[in-house]
Amino acid sequence: MKCDKSEQLFQKARRLIPGGVNSPVRAFGAVGRHPFFVERAQGPWLYDVDGSRYLDYVCSWGPGILGHAHPQVVDAVQRACAGGLTFGAPTAGEVELAELIGACVPDVEMVRLVSSGTEAVMSAVRVARGYTGREKIVKFAGNYHGHSDGLLVKAGSGLMTQSVPDSAGVPPGYAASTLTAVYNDEASVRALMEENHGQVAAVVVEPVAANMGVVPPKKGFLEFLRRITKEKSSLLIFDEVITGFRLGLGGASEYTGVHADLYTFGKIVGGGMPLAAYGGRRDIMSSVAPLGAVYQAGTLSGNPVAVAAGIATLKILMDDPDIYERIDRRARTLAAAYRSAGLTVNRAGSLLSAFFVPGGQVENYEDACRCDREAFADYFRHMLERGIYVAPSQFEAMFVSDAHSDELIGETSRAVAAHFGGI
Ligand SMILES: *Cc1c(COP(=O)(O)O)cnc(C)c1O
Repeated sequence: MKCDKSEQLFQKARRLIPGGVNSPVRAFGAVGRHPFFVERAQGPWLYDVDGSRYLDYVCSWGPGILGHAHPQVVDAVQRACAGGLTFGAPTAGEVELAELIGACVPDVEMVRLVSSGTEAVMSAVRVARGYTGREKIVKFAGNYHGHSDGLLVKAGSGLMTQSVPDSAGVPPGYAASTLTAVYNDEASVRALMEENHGQVAAVVVEPVAANMGVVPPKKGFLEFLRRITKEKSSLLIFDEVITGFRLGLGGASEYTGVHADLYTFGKIVGGGMPLAAYGGRRDIMSSVAPLGAVYQAGTLSGNPVAVAAGIATLKILMDDPDIYERIDRRARTLAAAYRSAGLTVNRAGSLLSAFFVPGGQVENYEDACRCDREAFADYFRHMLERGIYVAPSQFEAMFVSDAHSDELIGETSRAVAAHFGGI
């Protein structure tokens, strides 16, 4: 594998951009090598600046459910570009995308378009606070909701009720109103809800967690969250930035049968462009300005080029719902390969993680943290040398797209077996 140009670019990038990257995980910090720089991508393949080709299981961390540069999406984007890049005035496309989102997820009676998942969750939390008149929120350790101040919070050591910022620059005061519970642990949620009776605006959760590796909800866990939020007059927010349009057209509410009050979407909904959304019950969303008192705005919100990519992507998914069956089947095949290699595999639809905790179970963040990071880094480099790009961190999901053919899945399974001595 040649990497001269990538190495040179990374050196220069590190002088100009913090860590050389515009989002930390891209720096390959956990896998002991420099990142490759991408020149272009097509279907399941990424091509780097040194002429190497990689089978891509990162898929831009989620958006790429159709593979890269799908002709229909590219065409829609090009046509939109020719008509002007941004207007700061409403367009028919925004109405169409809102309608499509609602058609897929009927709980989303009203929706607001924004530009990133971070913005979507931050805004949904503000709406929950505005609507309920309460200040606190409950989130889960290991769930990621973007990098807004109030959500970069983890549980303080031992004491579940004491929250500490997960980043420098976040005032402890912000963290104080974010309570952190343990994923899949009903008692931890109940304790926080009782101790903070009448003060919790919302419980925000990844209905299938995918930012500590993939950790599906245990049977009954989401149902419990639904029950206790109703009981305490708090709202339930499903952060579906990854799971939306990924677990199926209807996302987690369809996949699990549990319904939230508010939803956030990102990644797939923008078809590879910077677009995200939050929405839900009409009475709650009616509190958003200019209709209501919760302020939220954006110069590039509902950007016509991003909206065109989103519409094209959702239409392809709606026109060929068998896509979900195909990517589910391929992910199942991959999961079997990792299990045969002795790893612990969690999977939900086309999302999966192979954890380096042999024989163990991964049901929450603490479990995920027990993984053997060195063994993971070894495996990552082995796969990359074989032209297969899996996430450069144990805590990121593997994404299967419709461009990953059965044949490519077979090749990947053989590369896994080769590394773990199966063949
Ligand atoms: C990626 C992600 C976000 C943040 O989205 P950005 O577009 O990166 O700001 C929020 N929530 C979840 C569940 C995510 O996976």
